[in-house]
Amino acid sequence: MNKKILLIDDSRTQLQSLKMTFVKAGYEVITASDGLEGIEMVNRCMPDLIISDIVMPNINGYHLCRLIKNDKNTKHIPVILLTILSNKIDRFWGIKAGADKYINKDISADDLIKEVNDILKDVTPTRYPSNRNTINNITFDEDIYKLKINEILDQALISSTIMNEFRHLSEYFQDDNALVKEIFELLNSILEFDFGGIFFNSTDGKEPKILNFHQNNCKVHDNIFIPIMEDFFQKLFPEDNDYYFNYKISGVITDYNKEILSYDEFQSAFVIPIISGKSILGGICLYSKERNNYSELKTFNIILDELKLLMRLRWLYSETKLLTIIDPLTSLYNRRYFNEIIHREYMRSQRTQSNFSVAIIDIDNFKKVNDTYGHQIGDIVLIEISKTILGMLRTTDFAFRYGGEEIVVILTDSSVDGAIYPLERIRKRISEKVYEGNNGENFSATVSIGVASTDQGVMGPEDLVNYADTALYRAKSLGKNQVKIFDPKIDKKI
Ligand code: GH3
Ligand code: MG
Ligand code: MG
Repeated sequence: MNKKILLIDDSRTQLQSLKMTFVKAGYEVITASDGLEGIEMVNRCMPDLIISDIVMPNINGYHLCRLIKNDKNTKHIPVILLTILSNKIDRFWGIKAGADKYINKDISADDLIKEVNDILKDVTPTRYPSNRNTINNITFDEDIYKLKINEILDQALISSTIMNEFRHLSEYFQDDNALVKEIFELLNSILEFDFGGIFFNSTDGKEPKILNFHQNNCKVHDNIFIPIMEDFFQKLFPEDNDYYFNYKISGVITDYNKEILSYDEFQSAFVIPIISGKSILGGICLYSKERNNYSELKTFNIILDELKLLMRLRWLYSETKLLTIIDPLTSLYNRRYFNEIIHREYMRSQRTQSNFSVAIIDIDNFKKVNDTYGHQIGDIVLIEISKTILGMLRTTDFAFRYGGEEIVVILTDSSVDGAIYPLERIRKRISEKVYEGNNGENFSATVSIGVASTDQGVMGPEDLVNYADTALYRAKSLGKNQVKIFDPKIDKKI
């Protein structure tokens, strides 16, 4: 069975000469003299390839191409647009319309055959009969096709407008509250929903994971927030409950009569994680009192694609931000970030009535290590000690390079009694490590640790650091390689 080509051109001579070329090359050829007839032939005869002119009355080549590519029955058929138009923009439209190839009419017959052979080499001929009257009697009404074209064009315009709107949102990356507000305003102009939430993940696993709720016009009762948040994060991070999850509420309430009192009032609920490769970029949830099925909306996929792009950009932004808070030698957080975190943790401990501890870890006789084995080996020791500390902390704890060879650790949810054991283990593990000196000698390094906690009558984050420092001083003066807890009776308050 020969492969079948449909030629569409409003010029009779053009059509005849093309037909001869392809018949000679061994193809079965059918022809149509304008776009509408072309569409009819496509549906009746299911050709293996369509070669169409662009400038034709009624339905032009671009429209024809869009109609074919938009129909699930015909979208697999390759389309070549053959034209005298050679502006870049014409080619652009041809490809955007879904054409597989865009060929200039000046092409020689041999080259054209080559192109066609190439496209058709892997195609098995369709078993459709070529007799145009054997397929079901569909009436081909020009108006119906014009309407379809308009629908396709409108859809394309809506898509590009939505894309454009989303792409402007990256301006708000520095301000999460503004970003959330803008996203929900945009979603509200496209989708029906009463309540929603969005979460942006960040590269740094330590950042609190916050679901930003948005009440869309109507009030949502407070007791709904926590179950929705828990459900949301459970879906995104089924294995982790170590994280610090929280939520924030925003949105303008215009209709207080429409208050939603219980979760059961939602007729539709969508929770959609947004993932790229192995990374969870974030997620979105939408709830509605009406029954909505967003997946039926063509625009919904565009919205999800755009949200994914936006979240990828925000992820990159958070990666760049991470670089500014990480110490390049040890990969611990830097001192600048310590100042931010200690304040945040202090506020949190006050709010939740919980305790946390601060420990200062200082390498013993480090100057001597440098003097004996050289600065480079000193660096190796510092890196190794940092790694040991990081590896032994819980994911909720923090480690910072505070000074040259001083490392500060924040142990969250820990009173002074609870802090001593992990710190003692860290001290021991560090002292067990053996290093190779540049003179063939092996050596080990030790650390001294001073620790203080919020349950020791501290008045602010500065006290914690000062108390830990005085305890460290005592550890050093008592012979180093030990952990000392701040003791108000012995240590002098600075
Ligand atoms: P102590 O037990 O009392 O803490 O004695 P120490 O020698 O560790 O303390 P001192 O404060 O006298 O010296 C700290 C040394 O740490 C001096 C400095 O050269 C070294 N140091 C600081 N930062 C780095 C670094 O990034 N790499 C290396 N190799 N050495 C560093
Ligand atoms: Mg030291
Ligand atoms: Mg020191």
